[in-house]
Amino acid sequence: MSESADGPSSAHPTPPFTKRTLAAQAMGHVDPVTRAVVAPLHVSTTFLRDPDNGYSSGFSYARPDNATTREAEAVIAMLEEAEAGAMLFGSGMAAATAVFSALEPGDHIVAPLVMYWALKRWLQQEAPRRGWGLDFVAMDDLDALRAAIRPGTTKLVWVETPGNPLWTITDIAAAAEIAHAAGARLAIDSTAASPIHTRPLRLGADIVMHSATKILNGHSDVVAGVLASARADGFWERIGAIRAGGGAILGPFEAYLLMRSLRTLPLRVAAQSASAADLARRFSAHPRVASVLYPGLPGDPGHAVAARQMEGGFGFMLSIRVAAGEEAAIATAARVRLWKRATSLGGVESLIEHRASVEGPGTPCPPDLLRLSVGIEHVDDLFADLDVALG
Ligand SMILES: *Cc1c(COP(=O)(O)O)cnc(C)c1O
Repeated sequence: MSESADGPSSAHPTPPFTKRTLAAQAMGHVDPVTRAVVAPLHVSTTFLRDPDNGYSSGFSYARPDNATTREAEAVIAMLEEAEAGAMLFGSGMAAATAVFSALEPGDHIVAPLVMYWALKRWLQQEAPRRGWGLDFVAMDDLDALRAAIRPGTTKLVWVETPGNPLWTITDIAAAAEIAHAAGARLAIDSTAASPIHTRPLRLGADIVMHSATKILNGHSDVVAGVLASARADGFWERIGAIRAGGGAILGPFEAYLLMRSLRTLPLRVAAQSASAADLARRFSAHPRVASVLYPGLPGDPGHAVAARQMEGGFGFMLSIRVAAGEEAAIATAARVRLWKRATSLGGVESLIEHRASVEGPGTPCPPDLLRLSVGIEHVDDLFADLDVALG
């Protein structure tokens, strides 16, 4: 592990450096034995006990915790300004479901109508089996949220902003006030915002979640998820027990790859979001595009709130609605040569997806919608390829 006899402070920079600087140097880690500037990959599943039976290193076994995973967690906690730290899981779904699993039977959940489809389906399946009340509301409508809350019984408000795949914006500060007034926690799926564009904990959220499979790793080669918490309270401890007991921690190899990716996160987000904003503007004027869904556009219904709560950009995700309808949308996705026709998002390679086909019946996703995840290719190439494919 990173802490040496002379303590972690000797290895970590002390002045208030910017997040970009801290991420670039992975918190300034230097291996105390070899002086390596890259943290070693700790693959050991077990750790030596002290003669007095203690574990002075803080590590005993790799299911509850491992040192490489802790390195990546420290960077994410720094980015999210999470007082209680961060916990990495084997997937975004493992992270998100750990939050819900920390609830008790009888607790009530309010979740958004527009949210990550697989998680919505999981909630619909699990809520009745686990005795949770569950209501879905239009989270961009604060009155709808207020009306759905059952004071004393609602224990968790789940928000995803921007919300996949319509990129609906929810006012985090307002949602926090409403949730807290009723005695509920607020958790934010901030995958599409990234820690660079939004700081949910500073805005009043209690827990922030990311599918680290997406922009945090950003190279489409790791499945991972993370939670970061404002407070080390009983609920956070319970989530830790669920991760340890359920064996849901991220493995060290994946944590190592994620750590490497986090060093360039601020640069990737800046480049990808700038290209997404540029494409949103250009496709807004495209004759074969009926509308562009992107919170950075001044006419977007979420723009005013997004401009207030997002920093440095509006994200790398947008959707376009193809004017000629569903078949034309599917045909457009079939004709692209540069964009990759694939699910997922946040990677350095740009992806296009006919989202309604993935989500199936009951989805709020319109059938003429193509979801675009913008990578780091030249934006002119991305525009030209899709322009040709639109016909
Ligand atoms: C992908 C995704 C998830 C699920 O994450 P996995 O890593 O695939 O388990 C949750 N929320 C959002 C917004 C996502 O994009």
